[in-house]
Amino acid sequence: MSNTLIVDFSHFLDENGDMAPLPGAAERLFLQLAAIIIMATHPDSETLPEYQVPCRRRPQRKPCPGTIQADLDDETEEIVWWCPICQDTGIISNWQETLWDMTDADIEH
Ligand SMILES: [Zn+2]
Repeated sequence: MSNTLIVDFSHFLDENGDMAPLPGAAERLFLQLAAIIIMATHPDSETLPEYQVPCRRRPQRKPCPGTIQADLDDETEEIVWWCPICQDTGIISNWQETLWDMTDADIEH
């Protein structure tokens, strides 16, 4: 059984669009979600190694070796992510036009 972590990303941001002051655990979650947003919205279809997001879960107290996969839902524009190893899953909404939205990034090919 797996739980889906549903996050409204705007709740993590202050009025300037920066990361709001967060307690440690929330900050770590924020950083992971921000990395997932960058990965999911990056125009390159291949995920470069530097954009890969390691799974943060520790089943049986061992770090999960999984790498997070993510997809954009065309209908809802939510980012759906999951770990193929431990089945950790989540949904991110309200990520659009944040500092971590790479949709308009200029990438030279
Ligand atoms: Zn995992």
